[in-house]
Amino acid sequence: MEKALEAESISFQVSSSTTSIENRGADILLTMETPQSTRTLAGSHLLIATGRKPNTDDLGLDKAGIATNDKGYIHTNGRMETNVPGVWALGDVKGGPAFTHISYNDFQIVYANIFEGENLTIENRYLPYALFTDPQLGRVGITEQQARSSGKKFKMGTYPLTSVSRAIEKGETAGLMKIIVDATTDRILGASILSSEGGEIVQILGAMILAARPTPS
Ligand SMILES: Cc1cc2nc3c(=O)[nH]c(=O)nc-3n(C[C@H](O)[C@H](O)[C@H](O)COP(=O)(O)OP(=O)(O)OC[C@H]3O[C@@H](n4cnc5c(N)ncnc54)[C@H](O)[C@@H]3O)c2cc1C
Repeated sequence: MEKALEAESISFQVSSSTTSIENRGADILLTMETPQSTRTLAGSHLLIATGRKPNTDDLGLDKAGIATNDKGYIHTNGRMETNVPGVWALGDVKGGPAFTHISYNDFQIVYANIFEGENLTIENRYLPYALFTDPQLGRVGITEQQARSSGKKFKMGTYPLTSVSRAIEKGETAGLMKIIVDATTDRILGASILSSEGGEIVQILGAMILAARPTPS
């Protein structure tokens, strides 16, 4: 992704911290300490992305005895039960992947468990996601890093978009496809497609991962 964006003249300055921001005429000047030196950038606009934190500090959770972690997310088990019987936490507030479809699936699981007598869990949940960047990043299953830390034997294949005829014809050769496969069963464990329409293409591999899973009883 970094390479693709750099090819469009976007530059990255990582491992740096901002020391000052000031207006000078029409410009905004941002000064930062980089690992090498002090650097000042001038620009017309400044977008600050600060991340998110859960709004749990004023809910009185302590009075109900509901446990949170050090970042304020409500602690739950795989059925999304908190430590207090009869109290559940769903969606972003329980931490983990913060997506609309995940919050909705949380609801489906809790509803099925409470009202339909199911015993569903979010453990090992199939998690697709897409970053709508250009090129898009579509991802399903586990990443290379997760495969490495799992200690499982796996095989990995990568294929640059510069070798894909369709990408060459469309003039959209930025990106890479990567597939992680279980070395014992040859089943797909995860895939990352960084390409034009990568968010759509990866769904095909997601369907293959799901098809190989046992049907929940
Ligand atoms: C900028 C941005 C872009 C995003 N883009 C995407 C995307 O492209 N795709 C995607 O899947 N997800 C995206 N998300 C994430 C997605 O919005 C969240 O994962 C999803 O909304 C979580 O749903 P939720 O019901 O758990 O929480 P929320 O949608 O946050 O709902 C919580 C509700 O509780 C209310 N509330 C809070 N405190 C109290 C209180 N004390 N009393 C009563 N009500 C309270 C809030 O007002 C809110 O309405 C994005 C999020 C952000 C911020």
